[in-house]
This record gives sequence, structure tokens and C-alpha cells, in this order.
Amino acid sequence: MTTLIIAPPPTPNGDLHVGHLAGPYLAGDVYARMLRGEGQGVLYATGTDDSQTYVVTSAAKLNLTPEALCAQAARDIQDTLKLTGVQVDGFAPFDERYRATVLAFLTPLFEQGRFEWRTVTFPYDPVRQEFLVEGLVGGTCPVCLSGSRGGLCEACGHPNNFMELLDPVSTLHPRHPVEGREARILVFPLERYRAQLEAYYARQEGRWRPHILQLVRELLAAPLPDFPVTYPVTWGIPSPYPGTEGQVLNAWVEGMPASMYCSATAGEAGGLSPEQAAALWEDPQARLVYFLGFDNSYFWGVVHLALLMAHGGRFVLPDVIVPNEFYELEHEKFSTSRGHLIWARDLTRDVPRDLARYYLALTCPEHHRTNFSRSALEKLTRERLLDPWAGLQRHFVPDGTGPLPVTPAGQDAARRMAERLRACYALETFSLTRLADTLTQHLQRLHREADEARAQGHAPSGDLWHQLRVLLHLASPLLIDATASLLLDQQQPWTALLDESSVTPFALPPLVPEPALA
Ligand SMILES: [Zn+2]
Repeated sequence: MTTLIIAPPPTPNGDLHVGHLAGPYLAGDVYARMLRGEGQGVLYATGTDDSQTYVVTSAAKLNLTPEALCAQAARDIQDTLKLTGVQVDGFAPFDERYRATVLAFLTPLFEQGRFEWRTVTFPYDPVRQEFLVEGLVGGTCPVCLSGSRGGLCEACGHPNNFMELLDPVSTLHPRHPVEGREARILVFPLERYRAQLEAYYARQEGRWRPHILQLVRELLAAPLPDFPVTYPVTWGIPSPYPGTEGQVLNAWVEGMPASMYCSATAGEAGGLSPEQAAALWEDPQARLVYFLGFDNSYFWGVVHLALLMAHGGRFVLPDVIVPNEFYELEHEKFSTSRGHLIWARDLTRDVPRDLARYYLALTCPEHHRTNFSRSALEKLTRERLLDPWAGLQRHFVPDGTGPLPVTPAGQDAARRMAERLRACYALETFSLTRLADTLTQHLQRLHREADEARAQGHAPSGDLWHQLRVLLHLASPLLIDATASLLLDQQQPWTALLDESSVTPFALPPLVPEPALA
């Protein structure tokens, strides 16, 4: 069985900041590394979402063409993933095959009449004679009354379509008047999938994080809106369907084929043929997992899901969606336009990346907004990671003696510890915060027990060495550099360690790399 992990392709209107990293990208990486360590098949993939109108608005502010901005940002994002240790198996390019994959997904739905024609009214700028959708329009969310862009409200997660945004204003030309103007477009009538969506979500109660389930309940309490498949704007993939001349595809309708293309890119990188890779989402044995920001839950959890359902069982449906909330920087929202942010690459330049990953795990916004603070990073990594690690380094020193015996009691303690840590990795109870916390608890416990042994004149026993070895394997998806030299070879799952009856003492690597000798 292969687990297909998707972190949403970021909009290439800039590099990834720490808020992005603390959201889906680190979580997906840690989960993927855990599965790889257990010897399971996994393909973790992402790409870029070039069709978003946000590319157009950001490019205008930077005085770049949208194409140039996309190309630069896609390179930056890929570099940043590498620098932060987010090891994706595939990063899909936005190329001709991408566009072909999108059309191969949508055209059967068009031909089978799954889309319908609607004449709808959109906000319109009469000065520039342009329709305003998505990132091109701002206003007030009709559900929660927060400031919102078109299509979706980041604050409450509810969609808004057509003229639903209150007091619409052009983002790029805020002084221009905005009026309503009709256009005939293709829509995807979500209400047709109500029964399937309700049955699907009845199975997820208690399995997924509560906020996304709350949103879905709120959405299902009213008729589901029509989802616009095409938009009468110019940025995006041109719609090839007769009657939509001059329109483009809504960027959000690309989500599923884009993700399939991401998985396919990962599959091909892993040695699958293009045909095998393209069919990964058609394998009923495959397990599909998304990590994403809560603000995207409506698309991934409703629209995209219904689009998969519209294909009548051809594709696998997501097993678990793991959403995260917003991360704040010093108690204010990350903001690219105000420059209130830390780029992810800068953080890993300033702080050893194991420490950065540990702090982000400890504080990431799993259920509600949480905060990144530079002073808290210093304090928490010192107290909860560096100090206990240094304590272990003092006690656990290989003295050249051979393997030490591990007793059944030592194996038992390692198993109990492993069970608690594995619960942090299991998707239904997935928590990077608990993972970081539990790691610290056991680093401190092993330090304490080694301290007590020393006080009685003993070096750490085989039982303690065994537990330390198991703990470091369970820490390895998060602390990637410090543990790299200790891991079993790729072919052997770490769980094989649990049964070992002897252990050879090893040198515990430093958490902070030693400065290179001049
Ligand atoms: Zn709202």
C-alpha cells in the first residue's frame, strides 16, 4: 500500500515563510519520514499553483510579469523546502503536462454533463472593463463579517461567490467603481453530491480535527453553492469548452488533477513508468492524505472531494485531511505586504534546522492560532532540547566495550515509550506538539535515570542504551540532522529494534553542528 501525501501546491507569489512551514509542509514531512522509517510505501508531493489570481496582484505590486514571478517563486520554494529539510518525493512543474492533466480530469465531467450553465452576476470594474474574482476583489465576508477576498474567507473558511461579498472593491484599483455584470459560465453544482458528502463525513466524525468537521456541518446545513468552473478573466488556463470562449478555468478547479500530477511526479522520480505514475490515484489500495491550512478546507474538503466523486469511483478519496490554523509572528498575523514575516530559509540560516523544526513542532497551530516568538524559541529549545541532550551526551559515552545485554524489562520500557510516540504520528491523533513534548519528556527521563546510575557508580545499562536508541529513531522524522548517522539502513524498519536483546553503545551526535575548523 502506498500512502499518497499531498501538501497543497503553494501560490508562487513569493517564497515560503515560517507560517507556511509550521503548517502543512513540516507536518507532511514528519509524517512521510515516519512512514519511510517504518518501511511503508509513501509519496509526499507538492508543486506550485500558478493559476491563482494572487500571482497577478503580487506581480503588479512588484512590477514583474506574473510569469516571471511564478518562475522565480517556484525556484525559491523548492530551495526552501530543501533548506528546511522538507523532503518531498516530487515537486510538480507547471508545464504542458500539468495543463494536459487538468483537462484530462475535467473534460469527461464536461462531456458527461456534470457541469451546468449559469448566467451569474460578478463584481465588475467598468473603468478597466474587467470582471473581479478571487484575489482581484476584496470586501466583507457575508458569513463572519471579516475582511475577505473573493471566493473564500480566510477567517471563517466559508465560500463566497459571484456578488455575495459585501461592499466589493477592486484590489488593484481601489478607487474604481465596482458594479455587477452578468456572465454565462460553467458551474459545478455541489448540491448534487449532498448524499455522498454526508455519507462520507458521517464516517469522519471523531476521526478528524473538529474545526474542519464544524465547517462541513455548517456548509451542509444549507443548500451547497454552485462552484464556478470558469471565470470571465484572463489569468489562468484558457477554458477549451464551447461556449466559454474568452474565459479561463477557476484555479481552484485544478486542485485534484494538480495533486495527481504532483503524485505522478513523485512516482516517476521513484522509478514508476509515466503510465503507472499517472494512475496512482486510481489504485483502490492507495491511501490519500492531505495536510493543509484550515482556510483551504472548503475547497479540499468539499469542492475537490465532490469532483472526485463525480468521476464515479474512479479515484481514491482522501482518508484523512489534517488541517492547521494560522501561525502568528510575535502575536500578529504573518503579512508579506507589511513585511511582518520571517522567511523559512532565513530561520534555518540563523538557527540549526533541528532546533527550528523542534520549536515549530512544539508551537505549531494544530487547533487554534499559536505564536512564533524569537525569544521563546531561544528559551524553549535551550530548556527542552539542548539541555537534556547535553545531559545525555555527558552520560552516554561509548567506552569501546562490546554490545551490552538488553533485558525484557528494558525492551518493555522501550515499547511503552514507543507506543506513546507512535500515537503522535498516527493520523487520527496526529500532533507535532505532543511529539515534541513527549520527546523532551523521554530525553529528560533517560538523563535522570542515567544520572541515578552514575550516582551509584554505574555507566548506563544496556536497557538505557536500548531505550535511547529507540527514542532517537522515533525522533528522527523531526530531528533530521542529529539522528541521521544513527539510523538503520533504509531497508530495515526501525520497529525491528524493539526486539533486539543487545545494544552497542554509540556516540550521540551534537544537536548544534560543531563550527568547522579553520
Ligand atoms: Zn468569513
